[in-house]
Amino acid sequence: MIDLRSDTVTKPTPAMRRAMAEAEVGDDVYGEDPTVNLLQERAAEIFGKEAALFLPTGSMGNQIAVKLHTKPGQEVVIEERGHIYNYEMAAMAAISGTLARPVKSSDGSGILNWDDISAAIRANDAPYYVARTGLLALENSHNLAGGTVMSAERTGEICEKAREINLPVHLDGARIFNAAVAENVSVADLSKPVDSVQFCLSKGLGAPVGSMLVGSRDFIDEARAWRKLLGGGMRQVGVLAAAGLIAIEETPKSLHVDHENARVLAEGAANLRGVSIDPEKVVTNIVIFDVSKAGVSAGEICMRLKEKGILASPFGNSIRMVTHYDVTRENIQTTLDALQTIL
Ligand SMILES: *Cc1c(COP(=O)(O)O)cnc(C)c1O
Repeated sequence: MIDLRSDTVTKPTPAMRRAMAEAEVGDDVYGEDPTVNLLQERAAEIFGKEAALFLPTGSMGNQIAVKLHTKPGQEVVIEERGHIYNYEMAAMAAISGTLARPVKSSDGSGILNWDDISAAIRANDAPYYVARTGLLALENSHNLAGGTVMSAERTGEICEKAREINLPVHLDGARIFNAAVAENVSVADLSKPVDSVQFCLSKGLGAPVGSMLVGSRDFIDEARAWRKLLGGGMRQVGVLAAAGLIAIEETPKSLHVDHENARVLAEGAANLRGVSIDPEKVVTNIVIFDVSKAGVSAGEICMRLKEKGILASPFGNSIRMVTHYDVTRENIQTTLDALQTIL
């Protein structure tokens, strides 16, 4: 099978499996797992922040951040296709008592600018019967917008304005390493201006499980308590952190290959009958193309692809394909040939 449904499907590399087998471990609820501690120190260093916390999932990291930055009854301003709003079980309402204030990006890229955001913010000068904005949540790269990227400059501008009105900013950086490679900057450059960042070890970075929350020491101390409250205090979890260390130290060096494969896929798809996509906009590892003019539904196309050994995800009138290290250039050609036959 060529599995293009997501970069979550990556299996641990041989080096990860070796490191997992040999990992030194301890009880992480006592703070005594040396491999977890090392992963947390390295993540904080790489992101240029004071501290980091290992978590079972990215959703838990995002939701702990929402919880810590907000009070019940406040709003979270977020791009309308954001993961925190659409794919996390309304947890911001269930756990934090907050309401999403979804915002469109004026250029359709999913990448917000300050004008898009400020129109949705309710600050202290709003009438008393209007809920206040408690948090701005950004996403980089933007999953549902097709892996689009917010530059370090844009992130800095937005955070500067947010700081002027004491509005905290959380970054859902599930794929921030992909964003950094695309922008040719460091992940620290993209996350320096924000208050907290969540990133996934388990996506394109290839670890089997895990995400990290990164921020100030006080924030991470509180986050550790909330992780426990939510049932995420794990014990000899160094076996997972060992894979995470390889994910942050080694995998970023080859993410550009996934991006090249995604671009080739997008360019090939753009030439197919009934497909619309602008390949220039594919800058990371996510390819979303519209098939509403194909005369056959996205779901049907995905079913026919599956018969040919290729897995992809239908999203409404579009199909999403995500490249990762288990997908070769040859697999891309096979996929394009299959798509051509089907269309
Ligand atoms: C995958 C993902 C997450 C977190 O997902 P989990 O499955 O909970 O680890 C968060 N944000 C984005 C943009 C994602 O793609």
